[in-house]
Amino acid sequence: MKLAARVGQVKPSITLIISAQAKAMKADGVDVCSFSAGEPDFDTPAHIKDAAKKALDEGKTKYGPAPGEPLLREAIAHKLRTENNLPYNAENVMVTNGGKHSLYNLMMALIEPGDEVIIPTPYWLSYPEMVILAGGTPVFVDAIAANNYKITPDQLEAAITDKTKLFIFNSPSNPTGAVYHPAELEAIAAVLVEHQLLVVADEIYEKILYDGVVHQSIGSVSKEIFPLTITCNGFAKGFAMTGWRLGYTAAPIEIIKGMTTIQSHSTSNVCTFAQFGAIAALQGGLECVDKMLISFAQRRLAMLEGVRNIPGLSCPSPDGAFYLFVDITSTGLDSLSFCKQLLEEKQVATIPGVAFGNDDCVRLSYATDLGTVEKGIKRMTDFVKSLS
Ligand SMILES: *Cc1c(COP(=O)(O)O)cnc(C)c1O
Repeated sequence: MKLAARVGQVKPSITLIISAQAKAMKADGVDVCSFSAGEPDFDTPAHIKDAAKKALDEGKTKYGPAPGEPLLREAIAHKLRTENNLPYNAENVMVTNGGKHSLYNLMMALIEPGDEVIIPTPYWLSYPEMVILAGGTPVFVDAIAANNYKITPDQLEAAITDKTKLFIFNSPSNPTGAVYHPAELEAIAAVLVEHQLLVVADEIYEKILYDGVVHQSIGSVSKEIFPLTITCNGFAKGFAMTGWRLGYTAAPIEIIKGMTTIQSHSTSNVCTFAQFGAIAALQGGLECVDKMLISFAQRRLAMLEGVRNIPGLSCPSPDGAFYLFVDITSTGLDSLSFCKQLLEEKQVATIPGVAFGNDDCVRLSYATDLGTVEKGIKRMTDFVKSLS
């Protein structure tokens, strides 16, 4: 059987190689320390689950409008206006099957063959693949460790051509945890405005911040950047709701209409009763998020200190998300070999940086308990020492 050519144009996920191996080892009873998680280890807060249960009992079990429940779209617009300073109305908002689906719908609605999409490296691994599935061409801009894995306005400017259609911007970043500060946002936004270039801001980690760092939405930086901005977000990371599949996009109406057309012929509306859980998440206050943040902050410090005590390894302090992006070049190993050997010899699961477009690094997630962080770091220390 011959499959469509587009299947062959995208790479199967490299991270699956490692996580499948780690799972198989765990199933065999091996004590694996997993630093590979891409999701919070906490359960969804009770008031959110209760709201979904109530909706289910009340018969919210039918098809709904493709762009989402009107009450949820209004609640999201309100959140974006009040928390993010983004003057969206409900009609500017659509609800999608996760933040990932928001980005996918957007690529399908916006990108054509020949279009270039600028993506800073290291990137979340689905960005380039989605661009390719839509027929576009990813153009990479190298964010370096010396600049805390952030790109400069000059780098962005240099990557823009007359074919550039979109810039993908992720702050706080997966995999580096980098957060762009207000002055940096202003400088990036100025380049975008000058070239009238659209930007999609993936703000899925906006709530997961440390050391008093604040998140600012790039769309709020100036009146001129707002109409060029597409804001994507979701409930997965901030509210520990990865399995619920709830995300959203806010954008100029024309874009929302295009994305709704795509969604109406593919997935239709997001699970109706799950959307009522999302309303409770937005209306229930951020105490539950703050609780998770206290744990994340402790683990971050423990892991950061542990990694920095390993001779030869280095990483900048991440301001957000729940990852460290650690430079391993001094070991002489490429990132996949490092991860494979670390897993096989010391039973610690990590993700090779090559999956994110940077073969000098590995990604460590601290979305796991403090005991596992400490045990895994000890094992990693032994592993790196054994290499020299
Ligand atoms: C987890 C993640 C998403 C979206 O996740 P969903 O589970 O689809 O909501 C989007 N962008 C980045 C960078 C992520 O890490």
